[in-house]
Amino acid sequence: MLAEELGVPKIATGDILREAVRQETPLGIEARRYMDAGELVPDTVILGLIRDALADPAAAGGAILDGFPRNVAQAEALGEILEEGGRALDAVLALEVAGEAIVQRMAGRRTDPVTGEVYHVDHNPPPAAVAERVVQRPDDREETIRHRLEVYEASTRPLVEHYERSGVPVHRVDGDRPIEAVQRDLLSIIGH
Ligand code: AMP
Repeated sequence: MLAEELGVPKIATGDILREAVRQETPLGIEARRYMDAGELVPDTVILGLIRDALADPAAAGGAILDGFPRNVAQAEALGEILEEGGRALDAVLALEVAGEAIVQRMAGRRTDPVTGEVYHVDHNPPPAAVAERVVQRPDDREETIRHRLEVYEASTRPLVEHYERSGVPVHRVDGDRPIEAVQRDLLSIIGH
């Protein structure tokens, strides 16, 4: 929604990785074992993807980064990549949702493999026409979700303070509300 509103591409490392897994590229085969286990894919792999995506002319006017950076080393590398290109982060948007609500959301998440549209079995159910074909992400099994949350606490949460110290504007947004309310806040933060 933000990418559409701003007219810039969304660079989501998870989406790029899932596409590589689907196409069974060497990168996808390597990444898959980390993803299925709920572990982070090695930084060198991720940084290669980000360098390519940011160098794409489509991203010349900016981009929304989603799911990246995931740890402080990635954030520092991103800073260098942006600086080399004479660019900088405009803002960090931290969508905050409590652990149990996350488990409930991810366990109910379903994706339409044709359109990429994401649904939730209770909160945003797929229309009848696509209900038969939606799929669950392999890493959205409850045990894997719980491990991903541990990885988040250890590696990703420290990023919020890292960015607060760095002077980049950090906006913490309560993500445990209806989609429309979260969207409204995000749009007002980016000035739309
Ligand atoms: P996501 O779609 O953002 O939830 O990511 C799904 C999975 O892809 C994660 O659990 C990781 O295994 C991998 N992944 C995505 N983005 C990153 C990243 N920035 N660094 C390391 N691993 C990542």
